[in-house]
Amino acid sequence: MKRTLPFPTFPLIFIALFAGNTALHAQQIASFTPKTMIGGTGARLQINGSGFGSSRNNSYVAFVQDNGQYNAPAVAESYRYLSWTDTRIELEMPVAFNGKIKVVVLGKEGISADTLHVSANLGYRQVNPLLYDLLSARDGNGGITWYIHRSYWNLPEARNAIAEVVREFRCKTGVNYRIAPLLTDTPLNLGSNIHLIAPDSALGVVGFNDRLWTSCILGSETFFTIQTQLIRLGTRENWYFGTGTPPSGKAKFRYVLMHEMGHSLGLGHVDEPGQTMFPSVTLLPSSNWSMRDSITTAEKTAIGHYVSLSRNFTFRACGILPLSAPTNCKDVYADPALSIHANAVESISIYPNPARDQVSVEGLSAPAAYRLLDLSGRVLAAGTLHQREAIPLPTTAPGWYLLHIAGQVPQKLLIE
Ligand SMILES: [Zn+2]
Repeated sequence: MKRTLPFPTFPLIFIALFAGNTALHAQQIASFTPKTMIGGTGARLQINGSGFGSSRNNSYVAFVQDNGQYNAPAVAESYRYLSWTDTRIELEMPVAFNGKIKVVVLGKEGISADTLHVSANLGYRQVNPLLYDLLSARDGNGGITWYIHRSYWNLPEARNAIAEVVREFRCKTGVNYRIAPLLTDTPLNLGSNIHLIAPDSALGVVGFNDRLWTSCILGSETFFTIQTQLIRLGTRENWYFGTGTPPSGKAKFRYVLMHEMGHSLGLGHVDEPGQTMFPSVTLLPSSNWSMRDSITTAEKTAIGHYVSLSRNFTFRACGILPLSAPTNCKDVYADPALSIHANAVESISIYPNPARDQVSVEGLSAPAAYRLLDLSGRVLAAGTLHQREAIPLPTTAPGWYLLHIAGQVPQKLLIE
């Protein structure tokens, strides 16, 4: 089964309740370790003190969230507690903002003297057990091809900026992202079913990452994967496409794109100064560190965890395949045959779909090369397609395949 819902992901929103009464100090937090953590990857936090009770029962640990308040008891109850004794609590660090740790025992709160710093957050669908919306191979190349709007592609400094930001993520995190031109002005959205980086004149913020997830159910398992993403960048900014410190009055394109690509790789916001995922990207205080052109160590670790999961999952149904590792991380440009040309979008259709022996293509105005690939990139058939001609399908395992016709949006084809 397949279903699809729009999922405007960030900021992550948690329902928060405020317990108005504060510390009665039935219990004391003496210390915790480590002092700086990554949320959402299962890393272990240890809290030492006294009066925690011999077992957890309905006691819990709470952390400050992106709204500045502690998470609700129901959320805290869902965390994965690894051990709980009167003097020590261990749990998997959830998504959180910087703040003092709160331990609630029998309704009474104890709050740490020290502040826990959260340097990166990996967003999850479900915290216990940890479940994510993972990336999967989508471009018939074992990876994900981001289509670049022509107003960026045709501007060398913008195209280079995008290529170098993508190269940074490929080489630091192992994600198989590539770029190809979208040589059309046709407005696209998540429904266009391609990953897209485009300007948006209606955008009220400097940048935004939208994503659409899809799920597939096989037996008792439901697998969630990202189907498509859209990174929009505002046109009201006076963009600086270079590296380092932007000139006064200009917004640094590479830094904003790095932030939005961080979202595309599962990261949520943090309020730790110096991090790319700090919620502001062009104003103070982030302008104090936006001269940086590389992701931070914490971001590399959190994204690396997500990419590793996206490369190693064993779920196989609905045509879902894991990402493959990039062969050469510096090689960011996709096969030129993947370029999408002017007026191509939604101009062709393929039928029937699902298909068995052959598939027909309608809407081609000129002969065009085609390739039929499986989702990992293996080419099963190739040739030149003339108008109103059907493509004979090879005998192959039933499942999802990609039909690439030169200049057109790749079409997903289900072979029966
Ligand atoms: Zn953001």
